[in-house]
Amino acid sequence: MPVKENIQHFKSALPSHVTLVAVSKTKPAEMLQEAYDAGQRDFGENYVQELVDKEAALPKDIRWHFIGHLQSNKVKYIAPFVHLIHGVDSLNLLKEINKQGQKNNRVIDCLLQLHIAQEETKFGFGVEEISTLLNSGELRQYTHVSLKGFMAMASNTDNEDKIREEFRRVKQLQQQFPQYTILSFGMSGDYGIAIEEGSTMVRIGSSIFGERDYSK
Ligand SMILES: *Cc1c(COP(=O)(O)O)cnc(C)c1O
Repeated sequence: MPVKENIQHFKSALPSHVTLVAVSKTKPAEMLQEAYDAGQRDFGENYVQELVDKEAALPKDIRWHFIGHLQSNKVKYIAPFVHLIHGVDSLNLLKEINKQGQKNNRVIDCLLQLHIAQEETKFGFGVEEISTLLNSGELRQYTHVSLKGFMAMASNTDNEDKIREEFRRVKQLQQQFPQYTILSFGMSGDYGIAIEEGSTMVRIGSSIFGERDYSK
């Protein structure tokens, strides 16, 4: 896989208001270094231990995005350095992030995950839940968390209209809360639609690093 060329391609193809997060889960540090050498600084990882190992091995100016499902008992391992936690899908998790932010004397940027896909396995809050939570003012007590926006994953389908409609729901939610400006949606298969529907941050894995092999 020509990682360098792929990074250069995305850097020139994406509109300037869209941040490219290179999703490097399961890929070796050498491949991340290649992307880094091509100028890439934002990387997304799904597994805590893998992220901790890569953070230790790679340049310190990388902005590490945690994009997977995060268990509360593992927040402490990434709290000292994580740049943005995308998949905040429960109030309990948010409380723990706040606690670990406090311990590390930093404010941790977060996105609330919105459940838009038809699959039941995908994590996240419903639209109503998020509206209620944000209108309640309850988040103000979490002084070591800074909410920046919303993250979502569309259904795994070829039906572009369905994907578009799902992304549109995230944008509509954000329009109710315009102070939260980051919209993290769009992956290798659907980033084009995502950008048309208002994404400001795309998470691209296989189109940069090649297909993942989970069998190893
Ligand atoms: C793996 C993953 C991606 C990247 O998926 P690709 O289809 O390889 O681009 C994006 N977002 C999340 C949450 C992921 O787990």
